[in-house]
Amino acid sequence: MNIQSSFFFDFFYDNFKLHKRTTMNIQNYIGGALVNPSSNLFLDNFNPAIGKVYSYIPNSEKEDIQNAYKAAKNAFSAWSKTSKEGRFKVMMRIAELIEERHDELALAESIDNGKPVKLAQQVDIPRAASNIRFFATAILHFASESHDMDGVAINYTLRKPIGVVGCISPWNLPLYLFTWKIAPALAAGNTVIAKPSEITPMTAYLFSKICIEAGLPAGVLNIVHGLGVKVGAAITEHPGIKAISFTGGTETGKAIAKVAAPMFKKLSLELGGKNPNVIFADCDFDNALRTSVMSSFANQGQICLCGSRIFVERPIYEKFKTAFVEKVSKLKVGDPNDSNSNLGALVSKQHLEKVLGYINLAKEEGGTILTGGNQIHLEGKLANGNYLAPTVIEGLSFDCRTNQEEIFGPVVTIMPFDTEEEVLSYANSTQYGLAATVWTQDVTKANRMAANLESGIVWVNCWLVRDLRTPFGGVKNSGVGREGGFNALNFFTEQTNVCVKL
Ligand code: NDP
Repeated sequence: MNIQSSFFFDFFYDNFKLHKRTTMNIQNYIGGALVNPSSNLFLDNFNPAIGKVYSYIPNSEKEDIQNAYKAAKNAFSAWSKTSKEGRFKVMMRIAELIEERHDELALAESIDNGKPVKLAQQVDIPRAASNIRFFATAILHFASESHDMDGVAINYTLRKPIGVVGCISPWNLPLYLFTWKIAPALAAGNTVIAKPSEITPMTAYLFSKICIEAGLPAGVLNIVHGLGVKVGAAITEHPGIKAISFTGGTETGKAIAKVAAPMFKKLSLELGGKNPNVIFADCDFDNALRTSVMSSFANQGQICLCGSRIFVERPIYEKFKTAFVEKVSKLKVGDPNDSNSNLGALVSKQHLEKVLGYINLAKEEGGTILTGGNQIHLEGKLANGNYLAPTVIEGLSFDCRTNQEEIFGPVVTIMPFDTEEEVLSYANSTQYGLAATVWTQDVTKANRMAANLESGIVWVNCWLVRDLRTPFGGVKNSGVGREGGFNALNFFTEQTNVCVKL
C-alpha cells in the first residue's frame, strides 16, 4: 500500500474537519457485536501528530462493563470446553487477519499514537500477530505436573481456566500490549473483558472487527473503551472478574491492587521503570553506541524497557558522550508518516508537558542539556503536534529526582562511574527494577552484573531482543508476577491438585 496516498491517510488526516461523528465513532465490542456505549456519549480522540481530534471513543460506564460481563459469563462455558485445537484454529485466523491488514493497522497505530509508521510496521503490528500465534500454539504444548508418592498415591495437577478475566493495557504499544494479555487469557479458555488506553483506542477497535471476521464466538472477547478511572475501575471492582492482568503506571497499579487484593483476585501487574544502561570501557563501542541511541529514543522513549539512565565507565566516558550526543543530535523528529523520521510525536499534550516539566526539573537540579531539551514546532498541518527534541542531560547526581522518577519520554541522563560496586549502587538506587542493559566483553563481569542488578530483565550486549517464552516482568515497584510463555498460561489458569490413593 502506498501510505502517502492511502485511503486511511486521507481519512484520518483530513476528514476530522468534517466532524462526521457517525462515521468516525469507535464502538465497544460486546457479545460479538459493535455497539455504542450505554450513555451514547463519546470522548475526543486526538491525532498527536497534528494535535487535533480525528475520531471519537465511547465514554463507557459501569453498565457497559456489566453488559460485557454478562456476555463473557454466558460465553465461558462453551469457550472453556472448546478443544485446545478449536481455540488454536480461531486464534490462528485472527493472527492471519492481522498480517493481512498489516499496513492498515500500522498506519492506524501511528496516527493514534504518534509513533513513526515505520516502527509500527516493523515492530508493533508484526508483534501483535506473533503474540496471538505464539499463545495459540503454546496452549497445545501446555502440560501439568504429577507427583508420585512411591506407590502410596499419585497427585496430578489440573489446570483450569479461571472464568471471566480483565485485561487493561497502556497507550505506548497499543495493539502489541493489548494482544500480549488477551492471547494467553483466551488460549487458556477464559473469556475476557479488555480495556485499551482511552488515549490510543483505534487498533483495539480494528482488532474487534478482525475477531468478528475470524469467527471468534460472541462474548469470548469483549472490548470496552473509555476512561481508566471509570471503565478500568469498574473492571477492577467487579466481583465476577476473578483475575486482572494490568500494564501501566506504578500509581495506577497501586490503585488497582488496593481494590483487587481484598477481593482476592489474581493480579499480574507490569508497571513503570527507570532502566539503567551500564557501559563498561571494554565494550564493543560501536554496537553499544548504536544500540544505546535506539534504547534511549525508540518510540520517543515511550517504551517501558527504554534505558533512561546511561552509566559509562570513566576511561571511555568523554569519547562515548561525544559520539552519543553527535548521533542523537542528528535524529530526525518529524511527521510520523514520513519514513525518514526517527522520532514522531509524543502521545498527548499532557504527556509532552509532563516531559518538558522533567527537563526543567533537571536544569533546576544542576543538569546540563547536551542536546535537545526543547519542544519542536513543525510546519503546516503538523504545527500543533507534540514534538520534542531527543534530550541528553549530564551533570546530575544518581539520586536526584530526575534520576529517580520515571519520565517516559525522549530524555536520558548520562554520567560516569569508576567501579562495578559504584555503578551497581547507582543502578539499583531507584524504586523500580524492570530492565537493565550491560555492555562488556568480559563474560564473568556480565554474569556478575546480571546476578546483582535488581531487575526483572537484564540484556547483555543487546537490547529488546525478545523470546516470547521467557519470563517478562519487573521487581520492586516495577510489578508483581511474570508474563510470557507458560508464565502467562499459569497466571490465566487455576490449579487443582488431585490426590489418588493407589
Ligand atoms: P496508566 O497507568 O495511566 O494507564 C494504563 C491503563 O490503565 C490505561 O488503560 C488506563 O486507562 C487504565 N487506568 C487508569 N486508571 C485506572 C484505574 N483507576 N483503574 C483501572 N485502570 C485504570 O499508564 P499509561 O497508559 O500512562 O502507560 C504508561 C505507563 O505504563 C508507564 O509507567 C510505563 O512504564 C508503563 N508500562 C509498563 C510496561 C511493563 O511491561 N512493565 C510496558 C509498557 C508501559 P486510560 O488510558 O483511559 O486512563
